[in-house]
Amino acid sequence: MTWKAIEKPRQGWTVVPNLLDYERTRAEFSWDGARRELDGLPGGLGLNIAHEAVDRHAAGPRRDHRALRWLGKRGEVRDFTYAGLSALTNRFANVLSRLGVGRGERVFLLAGRIPELYISALGTLKNGSVFCPLFSAFGPEPIRQRISLGDGRVLVTTAMLYKRKVAELRASLAGLRHVLLIGAPEEVRAIPDTHDFHQLMAEADERFTIAPTAPEDLALLHFTSGTTGRPKGAMHVHEAAVAHHLTGYFALDFHPDDIFWCTADPGWVTGTSYGIIAPLTHGITSIVDEAEFDAERWYGILQRQRVTVWYTAPTAVRMMMKVGTEVISKYDLSRLRFIASVGEPLNPEAVVWGQKAFGMPIHDNWWQTETGGIMIANYASMDVRPGSMGRPLPGIEAGIVHLRKDGSVEMVDEPGVEGELALRPGWPSMFRGYLHEEERYRKCFAGGWYLTGDLARRDRDGYFWFVGRADDVIKSSGHLIGPFEVESVLLEHPAVAEAGVIGKPDPVAGQVVKAFVSLKPAYSSSEELRLELLGFARKRLGAVVAPKEIDFVANVPKTRSGKIMRRLLKARELGLPEGDISTLESQ
Ligand code: AMP
Repeated sequence: MTWKAIEKPRQGWTVVPNLLDYERTRAEFSWDGARRELDGLPGGLGLNIAHEAVDRHAAGPRRDHRALRWLGKRGEVRDFTYAGLSALTNRFANVLSRLGVGRGERVFLLAGRIPELYISALGTLKNGSVFCPLFSAFGPEPIRQRISLGDGRVLVTTAMLYKRKVAELRASLAGLRHVLLIGAPEEVRAIPDTHDFHQLMAEADERFTIAPTAPEDLALLHFTSGTTGRPKGAMHVHEAAVAHHLTGYFALDFHPDDIFWCTADPGWVTGTSYGIIAPLTHGITSIVDEAEFDAERWYGILQRQRVTVWYTAPTAVRMMMKVGTEVISKYDLSRLRFIASVGEPLNPEAVVWGQKAFGMPIHDNWWQTETGGIMIANYASMDVRPGSMGRPLPGIEAGIVHLRKDGSVEMVDEPGVEGELALRPGWPSMFRGYLHEEERYRKCFAGGWYLTGDLARRDRDGYFWFVGRADDVIKSSGHLIGPFEVESVLLEHPAVAEAGVIGKPDPVAGQVVKAFVSLKPAYSSSEELRLELLGFARKRLGAVVAPKEIDFVANVPKTRSGKIMRRLLKARELGLPEGDISTLESQ
């Protein structure tokens, strides 16, 4: 089925879109111009994300404007003005500096969407330290691995998460000097070798002067997954704020009176770049909801909080589609002006459903941990082609390339031809490396391009269309999962001889993690063992990463050099042609 473009009015807007003339804005755009949109530290002392996000508004006419409105799981509401957020983040910066935590040192956050997470993130940046979020649904193994790969000096978490997931690992994290716990004082006091977050905050001064920060100083460390090997720590610098700000303006169409809601968790890059930084750099109000998805709760938030711009994800849209449009008519969503989505392919049906359900299409956009900010988008002023990711942002050159056997790169000019999606390096939020992994970083570049690992095509009018991943990583409910990480944990179980992990298509989550295991000779397959393995993986990896399905196989197919042939596992699972199996090890 082909989808008709959703046409938008060309004038008569109540709010005029920021990107009105795409071609002209692209032609006239310069990153230097974008840099001038930010303030810089007072006295010309550099650029610090937290100054741009908080202090510059706290020092100006927006000081009493609401920066964050936090909605607790149990109906609590807490508001933070820019001035209030500035004082709290100053306190946290003082906490770190009193503990002797230095510039460039990594501060890990493991918490749900609670106010302390946002305060710690921005206070860390003020202190010149590096903010590194961990998803609270991770199990102990992904937590241990990331803190240890990232040389974590500080961990801020809740007493409950600490007891459940970190206490058992503590001895193996020798470099972790301080653990700050959020919780009731008696509960925290009973846990050895930790500090009470709130007590330290109460004792800290609410004045703090951000030290000179170079735009290239490390600010954020986001772990992402590859097909093989350990998770990769993508490093981002303070200058990334230039792109966060600009993409908020062009792709999310921020206007000064907006109330913005990004539903992503800061444990993933979207929840940091757009759940924390971008809206604050614009001085607008951001909604943070602690609770998990619930369609009626979400519509209630859109109505009561008078959300104008909403940034969500395809899995959530598909879950809303399951609930249907009828329920939406009970809510007054007349303030909603713009809906965007990111993280996985947004089916054309979902875009069209958005038009029916909310009276506006859902604007898909594309980016990844390494790009730090939105690179390709459907814009408020432009027609939406359902199923397309849109067109590159001003300042971003995207292309479709083919890698030749000799390692060189050929750019594909012809529309409609599939290839790897590539970007010309140099935008401010581009990752500056994978921590301690120079070689892996170098491999991302060829022929003057950054290679994204995604396959795509471009149409005649310059819209990009997602085709799939060029590698075996799995996207499940918007979360990128490395099969190797899952296989490694399964192999730790005494019954497992080999494990191969794939993403199995799923109508709601996009993909779910499925594992194939072969057993050691002393073991035989049974339903009981299958359940034991599922539980084992879930306990070690956490619910988001662990396999949802496990099948027993006699052998996991491998190449003669020992690499797991995940593509073959997938083809067999889906009943598709097996393709070239000339390298398959004989079994
Ligand atoms: P992450 O680094 O976890 O943000 O994941 C990035 C990956 O998610 C990309 O490389 C894509 O494979 C996928 N992705 C992100 N946005 C989209 C989109 N709009 N359409 C299709 N896939 C997407």
